Amino acid sequence: MAGRMRPALGVAIVGGGFSGLMVAANLLRRGDQPVRITLIEPAERLGEGAAYATEDPLHLLNVPAKRMGAWADDHEHFYRWVCQRPGGCDPGSFQPRSLYAKYLRSVLDDAVERAGEGGSFSHVRERVVEIVREDGRLVLSLFGGGSVCADACVLALGLGPPASPPADPGLVADGRLIDPWTEEGRRRVAKIGRGERVLIVGSGLTMLDAAITLDAQGHRGPIDAVSVRGLIPRPHGPSGACPEGPPVGASLREQRRWMRGVLASGAGWRSAVDAYRPDAQRIWGSMHTRDRERFVRRLAPFWDVHRHRCAPDVHTRILAMHDEGRLRLHAARVIGLAGGGGKVRAELARGAGCLEAEVCLLCTGPHADPRAWSALVRGLAERGEVAPDPLGLGLLSDDLGRALDCDGRPTDLWLIGALRRGELWETTAVPELRVQAAAIASALVSGRTC
Ligand SMILES: Cc1cc2nc3c(=O)[nH]c(=O)nc-3n(C[C@H](O)[C@H](O)[C@H](O)COP(=O)(O)OP(=O)(O)OC[C@H]3O[C@@H](n4cnc5c(N)ncnc54)[C@H](O)[C@@H]3O)c2cc1C
Repeated sequence: MAGRMRPALGVAIVGGGFSGLMVAANLLRRGDQPVRITLIEPAERLGEGAAYATEDPLHLLNVPAKRMGAWADDHEHFYRWVCQRPGGCDPGSFQPRSLYAKYLRSVLDDAVERAGEGGSFSHVRERVVEIVREDGRLVLSLFGGGSVCADACVLALGLGPPASPPADPGLVADGRLIDPWTEEGRRRVAKIGRGERVLIVGSGLTMLDAAITLDAQGHRGPIDAVSVRGLIPRPHGPSGACPEGPPVGASLREQRRWMRGVLASGAGWRSAVDAYRPDAQRIWGSMHTRDRERFVRRLAPFWDVHRHRCAPDVHTRILAMHDEGRLRLHAARVIGLAGGGGKVRAELARGAGCLEAEVCLLCTGPHADPRAWSALVRGLAERGEVAPDPLGLGLLSDDLGRALDCDGRPTDLWLIGALRRGELWETTAVPELRVQAAAIASALVSGRTC
């Protein structure tokens, strides 16, 4: 008698950015167990999230095309996909992020088309507000009413909304405080007047996006970008031979000594940072909590601008704006945003004064603590279904990605991406996410629990 097929596994995926989409694609591709996938994501188009929803062709990927493949076992998949399009592709080029969203949807469409017998995929355009357990299954409540039941659930919630200094609520209502990661925010940026004074809180990759969009739409007023260190991402460029990275288990002090030695040898900062790549998560995992805390407090801004680089063209454009005096960088902490008289006033810490503008863009990056992201995460944490890591940067999980409850037991909630930041640190870019997506899919279909 032919072997009977196992009953379909019901998997709910919350979030339809890169991570959610690629967990679904990996599950469909495997075919060794039929899966019924319900992906819950409010946006109409999947694969976009905060990173790839932009339509601006000047918003480029910050990783070369040859390394942006969505499959863990095929890093050049994106590069080959672009090569088939008119105009071809240079493997080291930095492609528009809007193109990457199209690529991701083609990956999913292909996986759905090839799905094995018993596999299914559906996209529910909703927001999950609560997850509870009933009769051994998970029940996901939706914002608009109704629910979805599942055997397992993957939380692919992404980065969460940007952190904001305390702000006058009227600023959002009258369109002066803008979150450029939202569709509404992008519409508002497009309407900023040519000569309006713009304040940008944050000076990372999102600030670069905002500044080059403003420049391209003809904005010629002053732009003040303010962040605690006033650093901007460094550009990609040639890096020399990569030295061997610091050993797993090295303390922060030992790593600093190692870094000084590599730089003194003339290897260059790109090589020194790249040397971490193969083992960055394990090095972080082996660090004492006290060292991790010190790193986050003192060194993370320096790490971020050297590790998460920008496309060289973007950097050149930003430097030109800076040299022309149109973009000014300030190293200060914004402690409050007040409105009045058609202006936004940012108060700076340590009596450093105020900055005033007609509009303010929040380019701060996500709030560090995921419990501040949504009622969903807060509710799960309050009921002990998930537990924050000691620094509150993410949620605890085991090596497979299963969330640990407040007693340290693995659950049927799976975590991918930024939610694992406390334990992995480097867990927000495609090279890490594709590995996690494949590992979660593999563990889910094989029923692997350890
Ligand atoms: C501006 C920007 C540019 C970037 N550029 C690059 C790059 O060039 N290369 C690179 O490797 N990485 C880049 N990144 C990193 C990026 O985080 C990852 O590449 C990837 O997009 C993250 O995908 P994600 O699915 O984990 O999160 P997201 O893309 O943020 O997706 C999360 C999704 O979850 C949904 N969601 C959240 N809560 C709920 C809920 N309760 N119910 C239902 N849905 C919910 C949201 O609507 C969202 O669509 C960039 C990030 C940003 C912000």
